[in-house]
Amino acid sequence: LAALLGVSRTTAINAYRRLEEQGLVSTRVGSGTYVAELTPPVQSVPAVPWSQLFTPTPNTQLSSILREIIASVSVTDSIPLAAGMPDPALYPVNDFNRLFSLQSAHTGGCDLGHIPTEGYLPLRHALAARLTTKGYGTTPENTMIVSGSQQGLYLITKVFLEPGDYVIVESPTYLGAIQVFSTANARLLSLPSSGRLPLDLLEDYLIRYRPKLFYIMPTFQNPNGRVMPLEERRRLLQLAAKHRLIIVEDDPYGELYYGEQPPLSLKALDPYGGVIALGTFSKMLFPGLRTGWVVAPETVINRFALEKQYIDLHSSNLSQRLLYDYLTADLLDDHLAFVRTEYKKRRDFVASALRRYCSPYLTFTLPAGGFYFWCTLSHGIFTRQLLHEAAKTGVSFVPGEAFYADAAGSQELRICFVTYPEDQLLEGIKRLGKALHTVANS
Ligand code: PMP
Repeated sequence: LAALLGVSRTTAINAYRRLEEQGLVSTRVGSGTYVAELTPPVQSVPAVPWSQLFTPTPNTQLSSILREIIASVSVTDSIPLAAGMPDPALYPVNDFNRLFSLQSAHTGGCDLGHIPTEGYLPLRHALAARLTTKGYGTTPENTMIVSGSQQGLYLITKVFLEPGDYVIVESPTYLGAIQVFSTANARLLSLPSSGRLPLDLLEDYLIRYRPKLFYIMPTFQNPNGRVMPLEERRRLLQLAAKHRLIIVEDDPYGELYYGEQPPLSLKALDPYGGVIALGTFSKMLFPGLRTGWVVAPETVINRFALEKQYIDLHSSNLSQRLLYDYLTADLLDDHLAFVRTEYKKRRDFVASALRRYCSPYLTFTLPAGGFYFWCTLSHGIFTRQLLHEAAKTGVSFVPGEAFYADAAGSQELRICFVTYPEDQLLEGIKRLGKALHTVANS
C-alpha cells in the first residue's frame, strides 16, 4: 500500500495505527487489517428541538379556525361543503389524456426539461391573446405563469410588503390572501364589500395610511359572490389613479357566470396602469394543474421572476404544455359552456334546498357566478355552535370568521355548491338543516 500511495512504510504503519486508535479499522494478527464495523452509540440522544429552530410564524386566529374545520370533518361519510373545488367528475380528463399521449408521441418526453421562470413562451402568447379578447390589452411579456394564483399573491407579498405596511382588503375577503399578507406582518385595513363599495372610506384610508396595495375580487367575490358594477369599477380606478394606489385584482371565477356576462375587469378598464391582475385555471379546469398567471408591467414581471426563481425555478412544464395544447385546440370555451350549465343547475338546486331545509334560520343572496353561497344566520345562532353540530351530522362549511381580517363573521358561513352531484348536495343541505334545527332548539 505504501508503494502504491508513494509514501514510506513507516508513514503507512502510523496511519493504520491512528485509524485503529479511532476504532475505524481492526487488525487481526496473521490475517490483515479490516474496516471496523461501525456500531451506533448506545446512549440515547435528546430529540432535535425542531420547532425551536423555526423562524417565528405570524399569529393569526385563522389557523385555529382551519384546525377546527379539519377536526369537524370527523364523520366518515361527511359531505364537505367547505372546500372551493370544482367537481372532479367534470374535469376534462379525456382531453388531457389525449393531449398527453400526443405530447409524448411527438416529443418522446425530451421537451420536459426546464423552461424559463416566466413560463412556457407559447402558453404566454396563447394566454395573452385570450386575455386580449377580454379587453386586457396585454402582451406575452406582461403575462407570467405562476403555480396557481396563490403563488401570485405570495410573490406580490414578497416584492411589495414590509412589516407594518398597510394593505386594504375587502371585508369579507379571501382567506388565503389574509394569510399570505400576514406572513409579511402587513397591517390589514378592512373595507366593507357586501354592498356598494364605500369609496369615501377608501379615500380616507388612502390619505390617512398611504397603503401599499388594495386587494380586491370585483367579480363573484369569494366568499360573498358580489359583482362590482361597471360604474363603480370606473370610479374606483379614478380614485386609484388620483392617489397612485396599486390594485391587486384577483379573478378566479370571472368566466364562471350563470346569467349575464360580468363587466370588464379592472385591468381592462385601468387607464393609469396601476392594476396587477391574477388569474388561474384552478376553478375553470382543475386545481391540480397548479397553473395561474399574473398580468403586470414588465418591470414588475421581471422582479416577480427573480423571486419565483428562488421558490420553484418555474411552474410545471408539463401542465403548461398541456394547457397550451388545450387552448390552441379551442377546447376551453366548450368546457366552460358545459360547466356553466351544470353549475347553474346546482346553484338553483341548492338555493331551493336551502330555502326548504334551512329556513327561517339561514338566509342568502343568489350568486350570479362563482362557487359559493354566502349565508347569514339569525335567531341568535352562531356559526361555531353550528359547525360543531354540523360535524356530528356529517357536513362541513367554512365559518364566516375565516374571511375577516378583524373580528367579524360570527353569524356567517360559506357553502360551496359545485363540488358534488345533486343527490349529495341535497343530503349535505338536509344535514345542515338538521344541525340548524338542533342548535335553534337547544
Ligand atoms: N384567489 C381566490 C379568490 C381563490 O378563491 C383561490 C382558490 N380558492 C385562489 C386565489 C388560489 O387559487 P389557485 O392557487 O389554485 O390558483
